[in-house]
Amino acid sequence: MKLLGRRVIIVGQGVSGQGAKHALDMAGAVSSFYPEGKASAEFMVVSPGIPPDHECFSLKIPVIGEFALGALINDKPVAAVTGTNGKTTVCEMLADMLSAKYKVALCGNIGASFARVAADGGYRVAVTEVSSFQLEHITGFHPAAAAILNIAPDHLDRYPDFGAYARTKLKIAADMRGGLLVLNADDIPSGLLEGFFPDANVRYVSLLGRVDGAYMADGALYLNGCRLCDRSALKADGDHNVANALCAALMADYFGIAAGDILKVFGAFEPGDHRIKEVGRKNGVTFYNDSKGTNPSSTLAAVRALSGDGRICLILGGSDKGLDYGELFAKLPDDAVAVITGATSAKMRKAAREAGRGYILAANMRIAVEKAFASGCQTVLLSPAAASFDSYGNYAERGEDFIRAVKAL
Ligand code: ADP
Repeated sequence: MKLLGRRVIIVGQGVSGQGAKHALDMAGAVSSFYPEGKASAEFMVVSPGIPPDHECFSLKIPVIGEFALGALINDKPVAAVTGTNGKTTVCEMLADMLSAKYKVALCGNIGASFARVAADGGYRVAVTEVSSFQLEHITGFHPAAAAILNIAPDHLDRYPDFGAYARTKLKIAADMRGGLLVLNADDIPSGLLEGFFPDANVRYVSLLGRVDGAYMADGALYLNGCRLCDRSALKADGDHNVANALCAALMADYFGIAAGDILKVFGAFEPGDHRIKEVGRKNGVTFYNDSKGTNPSSTLAAVRALSGDGRICLILGGSDKGLDYGELFAKLPDDAVAVITGATSAKMRKAAREAGRGYILAANMRIAVEKAFASGCQTVLLSPAAASFDSYGNYAERGEDFIRAVKAL
């Protein structure tokens, strides 16, 4: 698509909207922020935060997403990662691996706007984290390698049902032109791939079987059928991080990264803050901050990762994303204690009762931490299974509040 001289409106003025503006300015387009210029615009660029029922969609002009604008401008190979959980972790790991050989740009849902990064250039490979929101208005996206890490219920306040959310994830590969597509053999919702025939070499990660791709078997990690290392060579804890690491390794291998460089990252990489981070110890109790655990699936992954460390007291609750908590309570270990707080409280309490579980109520984070400390559990885990926007600007603020409450004990 030619951008020079085109009249474009941008919807949203956050990181994505500003990135789109920068990219459009550099390309010589005539752009303005919605609603200014809407009468004469030829097409619009929407930010991922714009909900599908936004009034801008009543304008009868073509729509592309800010990420798609980045794809349009970018002329370098792209590694693209989507999935419900683990996107940031895999992108950061993969970027570390690729950095052994290339100048890498890390962007998309992970800080810098893809449109801005693509316009500025200066990289050899782009590693892009892609959310489902960014995939809603995607066209012309031809990643050299893509991955769908897992698909579990999330964002059901935005999508009519789980199927619609899951199908949005598939769009990452809809326009591939060869290249590698990594799927998780242990986590593909049944029936989802019917009629899905991407133009890509589909390979798999698995912790349960020997697949074509990368897998764990007998306590070791394998890549392309060859033993790479012991599972214990991986610094990041938890089975979910084994799956993340296998995916990053498979993609890095596709870009020609040597096994030795992959192993260096395995041995050094730690997931970022607010992802199952130990943040304090007191009187034999260890406190973990997993504020980024914002859906039941990520919370269960955190509980599993810590399950060898004694009884867990789990602090849950935040703002609702239209999710069901029945499975979460059904799958918690029998001896786990749940402390429920936040705007999802009533819904979570109902789900706990229906699963035949007790719970402790807390009016705010400080009280939740105090009650969790008094619960007699050896491990206290904040992994809310809900978004943070009921009381905080974002998950990081919530995590910081948890850390403050732990320090105040
Ligand atoms: P995303 O960018 O998709 O939100 P992150 O890497 O930031 O993913 O991790 C978000 C949360 O999900 C953290 O709580 C983390 O512990 C958990 N998590 C990470 N990888 C996985 C995975 N493969 N499966 C389930 N949960 C995961």
